[in-house]
Amino acid sequence: FSKLTTGLSKSSSKLGASLTGAFNKRKLDDDALEELEDLLITSDMGARVAAKITSNLAKTRFDKDVTDQEIKEALAEEIEAIMAPREQVVDFSDGPTPRVVLFVGVNGSGKTTTIGKIASKLKEQGAKAVLVAGDTFRAAAIEQLTVWGERAGIPVMSKPTGADAAGLVYEAIEKAKADNLDLVLVDTAGRLQNKAELMSELAKIVRVARKLDPEAPHDVILVLDATVGQNALSQVEAFRHTAEVSGIVMTKLDGTAKGGVLVAIAEAHDLPIHFVGVGEKAEDLQPFSAAAFAKALVG
Ligand code: GDP
Repeated sequence: FSKLTTGLSKSSSKLGASLTGAFNKRKLDDDALEELEDLLITSDMGARVAAKITSNLAKTRFDKDVTDQEIKEALAEEIEAIMAPREQVVDFSDGPTPRVVLFVGVNGSGKTTTIGKIASKLKEQGAKAVLVAGDTFRAAAIEQLTVWGERAGIPVMSKPTGADAAGLVYEAIEKAKADNLDLVLVDTAGRLQNKAELMSELAKIVRVARKLDPEAPHDVILVLDATVGQNALSQVEAFRHTAEVSGIVMTKLDGTAKGGVLVAIAEAHDLPIHFVGVGEKAEDLQPFSAAAFAKALVG
């Protein structure tokens, strides 16, 4: 998990670095608690979660002498307790055949990359998949998915830009049934600036998929970019309004992201967190672990 640790805590603007040296041999009085709460807010956790964690720490330690290490361990425990219920590793190669998985999220959040990473893993496991370039609005998205498919040796179904995404998804599920494929991984358009259009587009994909399989889509994975900070929280709300989101992947935790927003999401939403993205390569997708994440965050 070193990439996660490096990404989340090593640079000077991150929570882990800010905590180091801040509470050594200090009394955990009101001043110290306020400082701690501010650090948590600065890490993108949001005011409510920061207050909750700080007051939990104060319950047993108020006015007591503490050390950095003790504060970090206590924080990690609190964060892990919030996130543990959301830890749910998913095995896409299991379940119904074909399992239809939709990936939703705003443009640039990392949908295509995440599909590529998951597809590469599934290929290694021997699962037979088809990738569907359902973001028919952007030529770059179609090209990028094609590159991932070629690299992993997985077929990609696409249509020229402007084509009907729902029709493409229908053809892909039909093909998957005919060819006995295990998985249909669908990229979708993410134009959140036009919510009504986005909603009707996703609804249409779902409606059309259900003509071939009443249970489809079996998963609706919301991909979130950690570098947008607290905005990720409003994206969860927006997408839960437009689609039946079943789980979350958070990307770009290797870069400038502070990462605290995933704690806020875990606290506010009863949604499993499946994976975290820590880079642009196929191997840079890790199953989400509450303990590892909490530890990486506090450094
Ligand atoms: P989409 O528009 O949602 O399909 O997003 P893309 O998959 O095209 O990703 C947008 C950019 O983010 C690309 O340059 C990706 O290489 C990059 N990216 C995606 N996931 C990660 C990640 O976990 N870490 C880093 N550093 N970059 C990522």
